[in-house]
Amino acid sequence: MTDKAIIDRPVVIIGAGPAGLTAARRLRDLGTQGVLVVERNPEAGGLPRFCGHPGWGLLDFGRVWRGPVYARKLVAAASGVEILTDATVTALHPGGRIEVSSRSGPMTVHAHAALIATGIREAPRSARLVGGSRPWGVTTTGAFQEMVYAGSLRPFRRPVIVGSELVSFSALLTARHAGIRPVAMIEEGPRIVAYRPGDWIARWAFGVPVMTNAHVVEICGTDRVEAVLVERAGHRERIACDGVIFTGQFTPEATLARLGHLHVDPRTGGPSIDDRWRCSDPAYFAAGNVLRPVEHSGFVAAEARRAADSIATALTSQDASGDAAVAVMPGGAARYVYPQRIVSREARVMLYGRADREHRGHLRVAVDGRIIAERRVHARPERRLAIAIDAGGLRGAAALSFILD
Ligand SMILES: Cc1cc2nc3c(=O)[nH]c(=O)nc-3n(C[C@H](O)[C@H](O)[C@H](O)COP(=O)(O)OP(=O)(O)OC[C@H]3O[C@@H](n4cnc5c(N)ncnc54)[C@H](O)[C@@H]3O)c2cc1C
Repeated sequence: MTDKAIIDRPVVIIGAGPAGLTAARRLRDLGTQGVLVVERNPEAGGLPRFCGHPGWGLLDFGRVWRGPVYARKLVAAASGVEILTDATVTALHPGGRIEVSSRSGPMTVHAHAALIATGIREAPRSARLVGGSRPWGVTTTGAFQEMVYAGSLRPFRRPVIVGSELVSFSALLTARHAGIRPVAMIEEGPRIVAYRPGDWIARWAFGVPVMTNAHVVEICGTDRVEAVLVERAGHRERIACDGVIFTGQFTPEATLARLGHLHVDPRTGGPSIDDRWRCSDPAYFAAGNVLRPVEHSGFVAAEARRAADSIATALTSQDASGDAAVAVMPGGAARYVYPQRIVSREARVMLYGRADREHRGHLRVAVDGRIIAERRVHARPERRLAIAIDAGGLRGAAALSFILD
């Protein structure tokens, strides 16, 4: 039996996607030595590695690249930081003790601070309770893109796309790249989830009919997918196809937090944080899509830079963690809000959330029944809600509400 390695590091970053790599680069630029990034895949870069369409890099590099190019730029920009690939963090313990399983064996890392940047995962068929047989040709967008861009495969020619979030359009772009012609985009709701004119783009630019108020009840086929049964307005329709791409319905990849000792917000599905990006154990911070599903990479990179600033401050000062935290609660049509706690008292703090349904009205922040910020909004479930508050006004408060009414 080999001895387990035990090492000390000032900072461990879990996940080498846009969030983890941006935080690593920022910490290097701030002069923090000895940062270790741990990545379970054989290569660093995160989700963009397999997303070969353009649309990456504008906000953080001022250029528009394809996903794999963006991933390589992120890795290059973090040069000098140690990145351990093929290594999975398997457990988080109180105070920054982290278990890692790597090709050279198990290892325990004692970190003064750790950043959780493990991203999201897409709901597969098993999580969607779709009946029928188990033929080959059923996948998610992420797996589809990996097959096309990394494996140069064409897994099917006439799939249906289930879902109509932004990521569903990423699946359409990937299909076009591979010469695949989807036969339908199927959405349960009364209109597509992505911004308008997404339905026009699907129909006219890609030639793919969009079926709303419809859901897949059964997948048919013995070896391969042959058709799906779709229910719409009480009627069932059989659509011939040779594949099914389940898109969207993301959840944060927060297993480490959930299985460990960190508080997970049931509304976001990610670790709850304060406005300095700290989790319920002050040794741990979190940034990127693990906080909530799903933001674009530019937004994620900006979050990671701010989290890195907080980590650098925490390493060099006795900055208080969680003392007299003001709890932030969603209200009205707000589905969630983060940060879930505010510890700053002088700074301007941004609160972010989402609505649980389309809603025109006001976004208000209230403390003890007093409105401290408000603005008019047209909220939709896929649209980010953001509002700034002056944390100076929170002295003596125990809780504040983020209300969409
Ligand atoms: C299909 C699709 C298309 C998209 N298109 C665009 C686009 O065009 N433009 C854009 O800006 N954004 C796009 N996005 C959003 C973009 O992918 C995310 O904003 C970005 O990847 C989030 O970065 P992240 O670092 O938080 O997570 P990720 O990129 O998911 O990286 C997380 C990393 O953590 C690693 N990890 C997880 N658990 C562990 C563990 N236990 N141990 C070690 N490592 C671990 C993972 O392997 C992964 O590398 C798209 C998203 C999807 C799903």
